[in-house]
Amino acid sequence: MPDPKTDLLSLPPDEFEAALGDHFAARNQPAYRIEQVRKWVFDECVSNVGEMTNLPVAEREALSAAFSFVKPIADTVSRSKDGTVKHLWKLADGELVESVLIPTTDRLTLCISSQAGCAMGCTFCATGWAGFQRQLTSGEIVAQYRASRRWALEHDYGRISNIVYMGMGEPLSNRRALHSSLTILNEGYGVGARRITVSTVGVVPGILELAGRKEQFRLAVSLHAPESELRSQLIPLENRHPLEELMDALVRFDRAGGRRITFEYTMIRGINDAPRLASGLADLASSVDAFVNLIPFNPIPYQDWKASRGERIEEFRSVLEARGISVAVRVPRGRDIDAACGQLRATRVDANAAKGCKNASGPLDDPDMREGLGASANSGEDPTEANLT
Ligand code: SF4
Repeated sequence: MPDPKTDLLSLPPDEFEAALGDHFAARNQPAYRIEQVRKWVFDECVSNVGEMTNLPVAEREALSAAFSFVKPIADTVSRSKDGTVKHLWKLADGELVESVLIPTTDRLTLCISSQAGCAMGCTFCATGWAGFQRQLTSGEIVAQYRASRRWALEHDYGRISNIVYMGMGEPLSNRRALHSSLTILNEGYGVGARRITVSTVGVVPGILELAGRKEQFRLAVSLHAPESELRSQLIPLENRHPLEELMDALVRFDRAGGRRITFEYTMIRGINDAPRLASGLADLASSVDAFVNLIPFNPIPYQDWKASRGERIEEFRSVLEARGISVAVRVPRGRDIDAACGQLRATRVDANAAKGCKNASGPLDDPDMREGLGASANSGEDPTEANLT
């Protein structure tokens, strides 16, 4: 049964202050109570009202009665030899979602999920194979950040500097919760817009909507093939929003100014690494001044593909560099803990059920779901260094 209380974590700062203003006014409490709660939630990241120790006990009880906190439970915490940490979070209804902390020398990046499962069915992705369960609320997206931030500070990982929406799910298919969570993370928790990257397989209406925001959130596009026919074999959404339409949208996103586009190109041996494809990739990247990440394929269950050989990846890099494209070869992180998107969760669901989901048409046939208009919310650095897809 849905919780009748208002979820505090799902509220952008202006709505947060309005809701608390009404609450405290009705209880004849001074206005500074709002600021007290704001600090506990956004600055201290407390996980429940009981921790708000400068509030009188009666006010804590009244707050608990009126508001809820999404509090994911860490089902599994896996730490890689390379420092990467994956959390598998159990939500209130038992759904499992993943987030990953990726430390590097100069930053700590958090990769978060936007949906439980995913309807897109990309053939190279463990989440795609397992099917779609439901949309996450903005509070459930933000809760991954809050819980990861606490964990990182308690375990000497430092502060999270960057956030990438590259975990489970297609964020632009959950736009209501995505936009709300972007505002909350940016304005509430102070994560700079240029330090937040939204990753998509090409949901064109969502890209245009993101281009219309005043903040300069960054965009990563899972390209994976520079030709439509090949791309449609990897990303079924290509049949709905073909490359030509996607590139038109990216040109408009680029013209919005100040926002870098990154192309993600997972290199799969014998599938999308033919030498001629490198120049096609260069053509597309140069048209929108995109940064290109070449990512050796991370093997997944249900699929026997292999990563491209190192020399082929270098060949791609050379072609791109010769064309003046900024390019990086991504070093896979957390392989010893199944850190690629959806892998850990995939090991926790019944394999047969997962295959059944994948083969069912389900949400993929729902155009509202694909475009992110469905029951959302239940009713100068490489910005994407952390991509694990
Ligand atoms: S790659 Fe992204 S959009 Fe495609 S199935 Fe995986 S999570 Fe979904």
